[in-house]
Amino acid sequence: MNATLHSAFRADQSLFADAAEEFIARNHFERPTLVIDRARVAAQYDALADGLGRASIHYAVKANPEPKIIRLLVEKGCHFDAASRGEIALCLAQGAAPADISFGNTVKKASDIAYAYGVGVDLFAADAEEELEKIAFNAPGARVYLRVIVENSAADWPLSRKFGCAPGALPGLLDHAVALGLRPVGLSFHVGSQTRRAAFWNPVLDQVAGLWHAAVAAGHDFDLLNIGGGFPAFYGEAIEAPRLYAAQVMQAVEARFGHVPHIMAEPGRGMVAEAGHIAAEVLLVSRKSPSDLHRWVYLDIGKFSGLAETMDEAIRYQFSTVHDGGETGPCILAGPSCDSADILYENRPVQLPEALRAGDRIVIRNCGAYTTTYASIGFNGFPPLDVIIL
Ligand SMILES: *Cc1c(COP(=O)(O)O)cnc(C)c1O
Repeated sequence: MNATLHSAFRADQSLFADAAEEFIARNHFERPTLVIDRARVAAQYDALADGLGRASIHYAVKANPEPKIIRLLVEKGCHFDAASRGEIALCLAQGAAPADISFGNTVKKASDIAYAYGVGVDLFAADAEEELEKIAFNAPGARVYLRVIVENSAADWPLSRKFGCAPGALPGLLDHAVALGLRPVGLSFHVGSQTRRAAFWNPVLDQVAGLWHAAVAAGHDFDLLNIGGGFPAFYGEAIEAPRLYAAQVMQAVEARFGHVPHIMAEPGRGMVAEAGHIAAEVLLVSRKSPSDLHRWVYLDIGKFSGLAETMDEAIRYQFSTVHDGGETGPCILAGPSCDSADILYENRPVQLPEALRAGDRIVIRNCGAYTTTYASIGFNGFPPLDVIIL
């Protein structure tokens, strides 16, 4: 049992040929650059699709909206979860069919809803009365699924109560949708991003299944369950391999929901994070006083130029340098901007080589998700994160 379990974990990245890493090693970059290996995205899609079985995959575009990634996923038969007119237009331009795009943001501009409906998108998320009214007015008769808040997320990047309705509000919203002439086809939720173990889904699925069965008993003709994202990436702590993880989630879903005609999943991070690394540069290594135990290491990339998910040190990236293998010591890691909040890791310092110096290359690993989309246009004159797609 232990041996099987162990081999199903992904804890050693060196097992994988890494084209992005090789490309970074062979090239010079003037500014922080994310290098994405499309073949890794394709492999990740295949593994998730295999594990998810009959569920369809709607890639959460915001994780990485590079047109070449969208095009690749269109070619693989992937569907898309879009959050705005811009993301819908991007997917259409890369060849996605309108029927394969869901408009999953529960807070939409009315004009974006009208645009989506006009181009043939027919599946919308909602979690509030006013949103249902906007959809009914701008996309009459559309299919909607209601997003519910789930509690007790064990995710590393849990989502707030910003999205979803409280369980008690669901029956009223479903009735309201029917009264407005919409077609409430099911429910959605998000287990929380970077949910490292499939077993962490169980308490969340229990909550949603209770709501689902109550709504069906009340006469709603549900045929769509949207299980959202949450599929993890490797950031140093062991995770289950994607195929096994997805298969376990599906098993847990089917045990609780029975046969649902359409199940959709919306991986973002899990699809693209491990496909890319960022090539960055050390700007300064210093100690605030000679007796300081920690060095301060300043990089040419920070919270405002792509590494926003270091907020509260929630996502802990891994680093590699040319000095790896030598002696290491604890470092506080900071970005280049003149904002004192631009510190990446301080509460839990990062072990970096003692030999590290200004001008050294530092590679930030598994950064393909939620980096380019978080980079500001040019805070303090630092250029936004560059991207190269292999
Ligand atoms: C961001 C988002 C996702 C993707 O979440 P991951 O944790 O990156 O997989 C899925 N669904 C919705 C509605 C989202 O907003």
